Amino acid sequence: MFKKGTKLYSILTGTCPKCHEESMFKNKNPYILSEALSMHEHCSNCKTKYKIEPSFFYGSMYVSYPVGIAFATVAFVISFFVFNASIHIVFTSIIATLIVCMPIILRLSRNIWINFFMHYDKSLAKK
Ligand SMILES: [Zn+2]
Repeated sequence: MFKKGTKLYSILTGTCPKCHEESMFKNKNPYILSEALSMHEHCSNCKTKYKIEPSFFYGSMYVSYPVGIAFATVAFVISFFVFNASIHIVFTSIIATLIVCMPIILRLSRNIWINFFMHYDKSLAKK
């Protein structure tokens, strides 16, 4: 399921959507906030240009909404059904989850967005 060649692999690891060999992001740790969204221009392996048009990654905002909802839903289910928390605690845990996971949500959204437009090409992968 998470093998190279699947979109899920590229989305979860943040690797180049065409060859799955190199990370698109300059720093692998999303919690270094000053570099959370700084990306390489091209893939060093297959030379794919990530920003295929100006402001390409603005479109990932459309993706970050459902991704944020997914994180909020998980926070809700865990705090409400597992810990039987009051509605105020549930609300606080959702807000805290969204703030703490923001760098991950932003990167996941970019990975999903670029994978809408680019597809894995086996011939570009390292042998
Ligand atoms: Zn590549």
